[in-house]
Amino acid sequence: MPRLLVLFLLASLALANPRVGLHQGFTRMVLDLPQGSHYRLVDREGRLVLELEAALPPAQVRVDSPELLGYRVAGKTVELRLRPGVEVRTFVLEGTTPGTYRLVLDFKKAAAPKARKPDPPRPVVVLDPGHGGPDPGATHVFPGLGLLMEKTITLDVALRVKRILEAKGVRVVLTRATDTDLAPPDEPDLWKRKLADLKKRARMADPKKTLFVSIHVNSAPRPARGVETYYLGRAADPEALRLAVWENGGGEVGRRLTRETETLTDKVLKDLLAQANLSFSEQLAGKIEARLSQAAASPDRGVHSAPLYVLRYARIPAVLVEVGFLNHPQEGRALATPAHRQAVAEGIAEGILQFLSSGAYAFK
Ligand SMILES: [Zn+2]
Repeated sequence: MPRLLVLFLLASLALANPRVGLHQGFTRMVLDLPQGSHYRLVDREGRLVLELEAALPPAQVRVDSPELLGYRVAGKTVELRLRPGVEVRTFVLEGTTPGTYRLVLDFKKAAAPKARKPDPPRPVVVLDPGHGGPDPGATHVFPGLGLLMEKTITLDVALRVKRILEAKGVRVVLTRATDTDLAPPDEPDLWKRKLADLKKRARMADPKKTLFVSIHVNSAPRPARGVETYYLGRAADPEALRLAVWENGGGEVGRRLTRETETLTDKVLKDLLAQANLSFSEQLAGKIEARLSQAAASPDRGVHSAPLYVLRYARIPAVLVEVGFLNHPQEGRALATPAHRQAVAEGIAEGILQFLSSGAYAFK
C-alpha cells in the first residue's frame, strides 16, 4: 500500500468524531486515536476538557443523558459538559483498525456518600460527689435546719449537674450515686479507708473519660463566703494547703496523703504531657469558677492549685470545686435549699459545657 494512502487512512480515522452510547447507569464516549498519540483530561476552571494530539472536526453535540449534557469539539480539545456529581473513568482498548487505539470515557454518577456519618464520640464527664457513707465531710448545725452534711449536698448537686449535662448530650459517670464511700466496707483502719476511697475516685479520671470534676463544700475556721476551684499543684498559700489536708482526709490522715500528693505533684510538673493536661485543668477550673460564682451569686474566691489526692492520677482535665461554705450563716443556709443547689449545679454544668466547646480544648 502506498505510504501516502496509509497516512491518509490513519488521518481520516483519527479525525472521526467521538461516538457516544447511552447505557443503564452510565454514558460512554469512544474516540479512535492514532497509535502512540497521547491524551489527557484536564480541569479548566471547573470544566473537564480532553486534550488530544490530533485535531478533530469542530462539533457541538447535545447528549442530554443522565450523566452527560453534551460536548464541544474545537481543534485538539473536547470540552465535556457533565451533570453535577458525575465522575469520569478512562481506559483504552485495542483499535478496530491497525494503527489506531480506542480511548473510552465512561461517565457515571459518583457513588452516594454512605448513609450517615457516625455521630462524633460523646464527651464523658466524671462527677465525683465528695465524701459519703461513714465520711460526712464538713458538717454544721443551723437552728431550725438541723445537721447539714457535706456528703448530702455534694451528691444532690452532682445528680443535678448530671441531669443538666445529659440533657445536652453529654455522658456522665458518677463515682458514687448513693450515700456510700468507695472503700472496702470491712476496712477498719481510717487511713487505709480514706486512701482506698480517694484512690478509687482518682483512678476514674482515666483517658476513656473527657474530664473529671470533684464536688465539695467548704468549711472554714472563720466563716467565709464564696466559691473556689482547684487543680493539682503545689499549694501557693497556707489556705490552699489547709484545704488540701482537709479534703485529703483531715488530721494525720490528711497530712500524710497531702505529703504523698506533693511528692507526686513535683514529678508531674516535670512531665510535659502532664503539664499540658494541668494547663487544661486550669482552664476548666477557670470556666467553672466564673460560671459558678455568677449562677450561685456567690463571691469568686479564685482558681488555686493544691496537692489534692483525688486529682493526682488524672490523665484528663480534672478539678475540685468548693461550692460554698457550709458554716457561713447565709451561704450554709442557702446550700440547704433545692433552689440554691440547682443554681450551683447550673453554674458547674455551664462551666463544663463552655470548656467542652472551647477551641482551647480539642475534644477527641
Ligand atoms: Zn470535701
